[in-house]
Amino acid sequence: MNIMTTHESPNFGRRASDIRGRICGLILHDTGPGRLEGVLSWLCDPKSQVSYHYVVSRSGSIYQLVPDEARAWHAGRAIWHGLPADVNGLSIGVALHSSGADEELFGYMEAQISACIKLVKSLVETYQIPVYDVCGHRDVAWPRGRKVDPCDLFPWARIVKEHT
Ligand SMILES: [Zn+2]
Repeated sequence: MNIMTTHESPNFGRRASDIRGRICGLILHDTGPGRLEGVLSWLCDPKSQVSYHYVVSRSGSIYQLVPDEARAWHAGRAIWHGLPADVNGLSIGVALHSSGADEELFGYMEAQISACIKLVKSLVETYQIPVYDVCGHRDVAWPRGRKVDPCDLFPWARIVKEHT
């Protein structure tokens, strides 16, 4: 798997040094609208205060913006297993270059999904993340409904199939 490190984001902090800082989940996102170069630049701009560990382009290229061991800023206010939690502190954030179901970047591309599946597989194996802790931003954002990504077209069944 070829991971590009051409874009490094300053938008991250430290994970907790104890058990609470252990990577135990993976959160999937859509990046939102805009061309790839603009999206990557924004995520690397300190003004945005947003980052993901990885962005998967529509052609299947994977960009790493933040090292896994750092706490990226992707989930915001969130709950984990029903309780308020520092989801950024315990997870890896992976975003697909997409803006949802009804905009310029409609849905997902096959090359993008296969790259995403490979990346998720590798992260799940590296950090021993249970498949039920691979979630969408929409599943953890609080209050409920605050986020709707990834959009309804995301093929969850393929992610699950890969890990069961
Ligand atoms: Zn998101």
